[in-house]
Amino acid sequence: MNDSSKNKANILIIEFLPERIRLLKELLGKIGYKFQIIPQNETPFRTIQILQPDLILLNVEMPDFNSYDLCKQIKSDDYFGDIPIIFMSGLKNTFDKVKIFNVGGDDYIQYPFEKIELKKKIENLLTIQKQKNLLEIEVKKRKQIQEILNNSKNLLDSILDSSLDGVAALQSVRHLQTKKITGFRCLVVNSIIAKIFNRSRHEIIGKIIVKDLIDHIHPTIFDDVIKVIKTGKPLQRDFFYSSDKSLWYHLAAVKLDDGFAITVRDITLQKQFEIQLQEGNRQLQLIANRDALTQVANRRCFDESLQKEWQRHLREQNPLSMIMIDIDYFKLYNDFYGHQKGDDCITEVAQCINFVVKRPSDLVARYGGEEFAVILPNTDLQGALIVAELIHNAINSLSIPHEKSPVSNCITLSMGIGCLIPNHQRQPENLICDADKALYLAKNQGRNRIKTLTIDNEQ
Ligand code: GH3
Ligand code: MG
Ligand code: MG
Repeated sequence: MNDSSKNKANILIIEFLPERIRLLKELLGKIGYKFQIIPQNETPFRTIQILQPDLILLNVEMPDFNSYDLCKQIKSDDYFGDIPIIFMSGLKNTFDKVKIFNVGGDDYIQYPFEKIELKKKIENLLTIQKQKNLLEIEVKKRKQIQEILNNSKNLLDSILDSSLDGVAALQSVRHLQTKKITGFRCLVVNSIIAKIFNRSRHEIIGKIIVKDLIDHIHPTIFDDVIKVIKTGKPLQRDFFYSSDKSLWYHLAAVKLDDGFAITVRDITLQKQFEIQLQEGNRQLQLIANRDALTQVANRRCFDESLQKEWQRHLREQNPLSMIMIDIDYFKLYNDFYGHQKGDDCITEVAQCINFVVKRPSDLVARYGGEEFAVILPNTDLQGALIVAELIHNAINSLSIPHEKSPVSNCITLSMGIGCLIPNHQRQPENLICDADKALYLAKNQGRNRIKTLTIDNEQ
């Protein structure tokens, strides 16, 4: 205790013997404490309430009241109960030490005593009292901080749980020797994330989620978040999780010290809508590219495909072939069998050509009324001739009756083949033109045949 606090201490003397009062006054004055003596005829407890002393020196045998009772009364008071009380007694009187401590007395001293003895006893009790006060203030402060922490934790919990997204913060758990990440400890987690792991929030907070458990959700997420921690680059991705329900999630992860914070959003509905939309678009694309009557590719698809193949063949310098096909004397067929039968016939011919043309990159398209075009990528003239002959044979074996045809009693086709390696001097239209010219030759030379511009292959 330093001098200034010593001087401030206010000691109350409860004593009736004048010689002792004098002695105490002298001693306390020398030590440097302030002191007061209880006035005559004053109720002691009332005086204590008014003076509020820091310490009380109390004669064990006061004539007007029982000192033990007074001590008990003070010590059981909420406000004054902490005031240290030293009992004093003359040499002849013996202390009932047990009683002193039972009623809450802090110490005792017997006349005659040395100045140093009284000084030490007072100092010790005041120091203890001061530390007790400081401790109480500290405990109060901590309680307040704890309350603030609890409030903010409750607030954070309710914010986290009212979120529609899964939210969590996880800290890396590393292997002691290798320092490799083996799992993550859940620091913060809301119930949506806990549900993904089939746990409650309280079951998961503070626990370690091992790699196997994360792999069970999705096989690449563990490695993805390791990358986030290593590079500091945020991660955004969708993932599909199939448990009792099949769900799509969007995941966003950012680095947080030696760990990461994550938000996860259920996007199943949106994803289903997206998939439906994609499927719808695919169907639309098919419809947009398919000829409604024959179900082979339409003219639009033919044009796009030819442009694409032309560019590819221009780069790779491979031969690109085209077969132009026209049904012979189809006007006569229509006139004789009727338009409906004509439609059926065109469809049957288209399907037959489509069946013969095998490679996935080949394309059979309805070019116009009863005309078809076949694009044969990476195919030279000989190859195209083989395909044309296969078509010819296939149509022959269909044997669709055509009573009015001047060249046969069945449906026949005329075919013209064009073949070239694209260069910058020529255009895709040149290939169409070549095939068309060859078809014109086939028609002119009597129909039911295959013609090329360079090689004659009469049927
Ligand atoms: P050629 O041997 O010279 O090709 O004689 P063609 O009668 O086949 O030729 P033309 O160009 O004179 O007639 C083609 C006919 O094909 C005319 C048209 O009635 C018929 N046609 C075109 N498109 C369709 C269709 O979608 N359905 C039906 N049923 N007939 C069609
Ligand atoms: Mg025609
Ligand atoms: Mg025709």
